[in-house]
Amino acid sequence: MSTPRLDRRLLSAITIGTVAVALGVAATVGETRLTSHSHAAGTPTPAPTVPDLPVPTPALTTTPPSPFLDRQVVVTGPDGVLRIGGHVIVNKTYALPEAFGPGGLAPEVDQAFAAMQADAASTGVVDLRIISGYRSFARQSQNYAQRVASVGQEVADRGMARPGHSEHQTGLAIDVNQLSTSFGQTEAGRWIAANAHRFGFIVRYPDGKEAATGFKYEPWHLRYLGVEFATELTASGLTIEEYYGLTSAY
Ligand SMILES: [Zn+2]
Repeated sequence: MSTPRLDRRLLSAITIGTVAVALGVAATVGETRLTSHSHAAGTPTPAPTVPDLPVPTPALTTTPPSPFLDRQVVVTGPDGVLRIGGHVIVNKTYALPEAFGPGGLAPEVDQAFAAMQADAASTGVVDLRIISGYRSFARQSQNYAQRVASVGQEVADRGMARPGHSEHQTGLAIDVNQLSTSFGQTEAGRWIAANAHRFGFIVRYPDGKEAATGFKYEPWHLRYLGVEFATELTASGLTIEEYYGLTSAY
């Protein structure tokens, strides 16, 4: 059956304007196309059946949209925690619920730090130690209140997270050696910056990235992400916020 003839029949159906005829033509058009396609392929086959398709899940988004979302899964779980690609996200925009509290460092963080500490020690000159690990919501509330009383809220917010906004509440962040910006220029600080990713850690608040992360430079604050993502992020030079296209602001 030729295409011109199809067009004429379709035109005829439209001209006649009856529903019954129009449906009949539509069915004929469908069958004809299938037959024609089979001939063109040289392998006549029965009309394919259409399988039941899964119901698509609703699109998940962040604000603002990220160019990386097409290869990441964004989930706010029943625990109220935002995870992107399986990674817990905590910053000034994204908070943890008050009830969220693993009670200590995650086992993989303890293991990764022990491996990193041993590797650093093997150089004979770098001594690493954890000076702060897990902190509960309540503990962070106390620390933050003391900090605000001491230096005022504006200064406090640049260097200390409000309760619910601290990565230390996840059990996936550690502070090492000394809480001083000058730590970044020590041998241990330089070793951390160059090697932490090999053990799954990143320097979470790099120098010059306050506009992205919301926090000033903290060469001592390490976030565990696993070796693969930590290595990718470190190589990219991007912060978590820049990588995912997230804000970090109260
Ligand atoms: Zn910290």
